[in-house]
Amino acid sequence: MSSNRVVVIGGGPAGLEATALAARLGSEVTLVEKRPELGGTPIAENYAALTHGFQSAEDLVGRLIADATGSPAVEVRTGAEVTAVSGAGGDFAVSVSSGGDEDQVAAGAIVLATGFQHFDPGRETQQYGYYEFPDVIALQDAEAMLKAESFVTPSTGRPPERVAFIQCVGSRDRQIGNEYCSKVCCGISSKQAIEVRQQVPDARVFIFYIDMRMYGYWENEIYWPAQEQHRVNYVKGIVTEILAKNGRLLIRGEDTTMGRPMEVPMDVVVLAVGMEPSQGTRTMADLLGLATNKYGFVETVHDTLDTVTTNVPGVFVCGSVTGPCDLDDAISSAGAAGAKAVAFLRAGAGVPA
Ligand SMILES: Cc1cc2nc3c(=O)[nH]c(=O)nc-3n(C[C@H](O)[C@H](O)[C@H](O)COP(=O)(O)OP(=O)(O)OC[C@H]3O[C@@H](n4cnc5c(N)ncnc54)[C@H](O)[C@@H]3O)c2cc1C
Ligand code: SF4
Repeated sequence: MSSNRVVVIGGGPAGLEATALAARLGSEVTLVEKRPELGGTPIAENYAALTHGFQSAEDLVGRLIADATGSPAVEVRTGAEVTAVSGAGGDFAVSVSSGGDEDQVAAGAIVLATGFQHFDPGRETQQYGYYEFPDVIALQDAEAMLKAESFVTPSTGRPPERVAFIQCVGSRDRQIGNEYCSKVCCGISSKQAIEVRQQVPDARVFIFYIDMRMYGYWENEIYWPAQEQHRVNYVKGIVTEILAKNGRLLIRGEDTTMGRPMEVPMDVVVLAVGMEPSQGTRTMADLLGLATNKYGFVETVHDTLDTVTTNVPGVFVCGSVTGPCDLDDAISSAGAAGAKAVAFLRAGAGVPA
């Protein structure tokens, strides 16, 4: 028997938008989120201000949450996980477990929106000393300090004099096996560099990059203002090593524009870690029998013309499940996934999609 229900797995920005859209189009929706709260990585990892326009992450994601949960057609299960799926498109039985209880939800379609995780900078890039030096931090650690309006040198609690960002940590790296660009980290580092200059006006801020990859309008909104108004220093170079020296960090590498070795002292080093599929994405892809690429991101039936339909009829994907993306792309693909899931239900019920 076909069901008019869509199960959305993952309550981040993409899952929230897919939920809101499917409900608006007339479907019942069960939204399953494993964390105790909705909002996804931007909320769980305490992101401060989001592009575009340095908007508060809580405000922006809060609007998505209100939209998704405002409809009586939406049932929200937080602290819950999907443990098994049987049946086929149009007639899935989805086992949902929370706090020891397990029940089955009948669904015609499934949208997978289980998102990404930050690359672990302790993995194979030991030369940066993430777990060794307290003043070597990652983008998400910087976000949390910026959100608390307290950007300090972690080991001393004092405002830093010199801050460096190192780009492409865990991305564009053949040795690690992540050859892809994570798309957002150049823009996020530049955004954070501006925020550091605003919160600690005396700090000098450097960004060490292979090449800067700004996404669409971020070029004008972030990159040029960072250089021209906020005097962030962009250095084309490769950092090979971070050492502790005289109570500070010492960055060693090569300034590739000048073609000479460099050694620069820093108080705080921020590693611009890339995006990898979350453990939930890997587990759910496996459980649902979805095709994945060599990095563990889910593949869709066409990488250009259909970016949300999977190899399993009735299962759709959106957001960072399919690869690194910013919020604009996550929301767009989520709308498409929500709409295609409802179209799939209607086609199954004999209603023209
Ligand atoms: C440091 C950093 C800063 C960023 N800042 C910006 C910015 O300023 N502007 C911008 O446009 N983009 C930004 N991004 C990108 C943005 O965070 C992503 O585009 C967005 O979070 C993707 O949303 P999502 O819903 O696909 O994934 P996520 O936000 O990762 O949400 C996935 C959700 O699925 C849940 N989940 C996982 N597994 C399971 C499971 N098995 N069962 C149930 N639920 C599960 C998770 O708990 C989570 O709630 C930033 C990224 C990084 C790394
Ligand atoms: S967005 Fe920038 S920092 Fe991130 S992987 Fe691409 S080039 Fe590297």
